[in-house]
Amino acid sequence: MPGFFDKSLEYLRGVGSQRAELLATELGLFTYGDLLAFYPFRYEDRTRFYKIAETHENLPAAQIIGRLKKLQTVGAGRRQRLVGTFEDETGRLDLVWFQGIRWVQEKIKPGAVYIAYGKPARFGGILNIAHPELSPYTESAATAPFLQPVYPGTEKLKKKYIDSKAISKMIKMLLAESLPHLYENLPSTLIASLRLVEKKSALSQIHFPQDAQLLQKARFRLTFEELFFIQLRLIKLKLTRTEKYNGLLFDNSQLLHTFYADHLPFELTNAQKKVIREIYSDFRSGKQMNRLVQGDVGSGKTMVAFLCMLIAISNQTQCAFMAPTEILAEQHYEGLQQYAKPLGIRIARLTGSTRSAERKKLLLALETGVIHILVGTHALIEESVKFHHLGLAVIDEQHRFGVAQRAQLWQKNEGLPPHVLVMTATPIPRTLAMTLYGDLDISTIDELPAGRKPIHTLHMRDSQRIRMFDFVEKEIRKGRQAYIVYPLIEESATLDYKDLMDGYESVARRFPDFPLSIVHGRMKAEDKDWEMRRFVKGETKIMVATTVIEVGVNVPNASVMVIENAERFGLSQLHQLRGRVGRGAEQSHCILMTSYELSAEAKVRIQAMVETNDGFRIAETDLKLRGPGDLMGTRQSGALELRLADLARDGEILQLARNAAIDILKHDPELTQPHHAMVRSFLESQKKQENIWGRIG
Ligand code: ADP
Ligand code: MG
Repeated sequence: MPGFFDKSLEYLRGVGSQRAELLATELGLFTYGDLLAFYPFRYEDRTRFYKIAETHENLPAAQIIGRLKKLQTVGAGRRQRLVGTFEDETGRLDLVWFQGIRWVQEKIKPGAVYIAYGKPARFGGILNIAHPELSPYTESAATAPFLQPVYPGTEKLKKKYIDSKAISKMIKMLLAESLPHLYENLPSTLIASLRLVEKKSALSQIHFPQDAQLLQKARFRLTFEELFFIQLRLIKLKLTRTEKYNGLLFDNSQLLHTFYADHLPFELTNAQKKVIREIYSDFRSGKQMNRLVQGDVGSGKTMVAFLCMLIAISNQTQCAFMAPTEILAEQHYEGLQQYAKPLGIRIARLTGSTRSAERKKLLLALETGVIHILVGTHALIEESVKFHHLGLAVIDEQHRFGVAQRAQLWQKNEGLPPHVLVMTATPIPRTLAMTLYGDLDISTIDELPAGRKPIHTLHMRDSQRIRMFDFVEKEIRKGRQAYIVYPLIEESATLDYKDLMDGYESVARRFPDFPLSIVHGRMKAEDKDWEMRRFVKGETKIMVATTVIEVGVNVPNASVMVIENAERFGLSQLHQLRGRVGRGAEQSHCILMTSYELSAEAKVRIQAMVETNDGFRIAETDLKLRGPGDLMGTRQSGALELRLADLARDGEILQLARNAAIDILKHDPELTQPHHAMVRSFLESQKKQENIWGRIG
């Protein structure tokens, strides 16, 4: 039976089907519950009244008690306006209306006392407020100070008279109706120990705060609640898994030792060693491993994965290594092949373009256990791909895969599920990681191999283009290669596409002797791969591309990354792009091209790039600038649609919420104890939004 909060908004008094439809399409509000959780994004301070004498045009807004003396229309035609003279004991100002004059004339009466609210301005030496909000003065209105909620809206809604005020009215009505149905969803012990305000009061206060302090408490409580339930779900998932799934026990590391002693091409960094130890300890724990390894571009994640695969193989199991694109799968295949050969490890590759005869042979070899490591794309998780005994699945560049796909990998072994190692080059700040990957254990490679030359990053304006091209030419004459990247916000955006094509032509004109490649999202996958390959082999000198080259491709000979319209990229994306160079022994350069006019935020992004090569610092700055939604493109996926919490700001509340969730689940993993009943039932009511969660990761 659908509950009170699942009722459609069309049933709310004063809404009706037309307005309900608008609320749904414009704001994504469908049910009573949705509207109740549609929080104001700011508040107008109505706690203070100004005297006219202290009012001035630099105030953002002022609220004044006064008497309306005169009301008259002035001017004619388009210049016609209604002017009211508004007075208190300290002075007078004008109230002005340019529109809806007739309506105002009907509603307000000269001679009466009003409370006026609006933005003061000065025109011809006279102070005025245009289109003020006016409400009749009453004793209670003047003595009950409050913060007025302001709700986000759209132009379309405003045209239909659904503005912030109208929404506020609806919520007021809904809140009154809801009170009998609202129940506390946090355990009383938690409420007591954290001094949280109750659910009912929190909801009333967040919409209609009586004062700033109560608002702050309401916000704290609701932010905590939001994060708490997310953490509860994630940790529950993790516990269920570790409870349910025993893991394969890997205690033989023979091959690792052999490789280490005889074939390791370089000394491992301490960070690599640390992460390998963490993984090895998972392997010996008897539990299934689900671990995320994050490390900046070039931190050497592949070698870590390979060494772990050696342990899996020493224990008579096979490994799957999954990459997001064919070209990456190929690069990994070739890279790993070279390490595997001297050890007699058999490694194969499976992608969408593997021919069917070869595929057949390969699948047989896989099923009989002849192949030790299978490298490939999504093709690896297809039904028909059967392992003899899959022990370890490695997923490179995590954000392209979802939880569901990870789960499919577990099915690939009969009996115990394989250990899962997820690798990402997108450094995630701790708070975000706790929320996005709260169901995974996290290891961090926080050190680059010694001797890497930091990429030299500089900012150039469009007018310095000639210099930029000269620089690119010099590098290519030295034998290097260069990328020139254009933003393509949506692959369908025709204007962006034209930018890219114009850009390509001007590069072609400037460098008539250099073979060029071009790659963009409108090309067929095989054409993209073909172009990419020519560049990898060094046949072409400049790669003109959109952000499709962002992930993982390795061209050590490329030493210049030019990013056009750099102000249009997010910070993490800029950093990822920069990571395409600096992979070889040569000094590499990243040139950020922008126009002269930059927003304050764009300036911060460019500045951060110029100042640091540290992915974690970049990620922190990015989180502060944009909020978490946009990081890693999670906004569209809905994975992190937080209503109230702001991970850049609420890190401490998140930690509290996580601790509380861990604590509760430790004592009552299934939430079956009576004093957790409300927590469980709330969690279950949230499960309706499962579809959102399915896409996380
Ligand atoms: P990423 O973490 O971005 O996937 P890779 O695994 O591709 O990085 O490694 C980048 C380059 O660094 C590779 O050429 C790899 O061989 C090399 N590398 C990895 N670990 C070390 C190390 N400890 N010392 C020197 N070079 C290393
Ligand atoms: Mg990599």
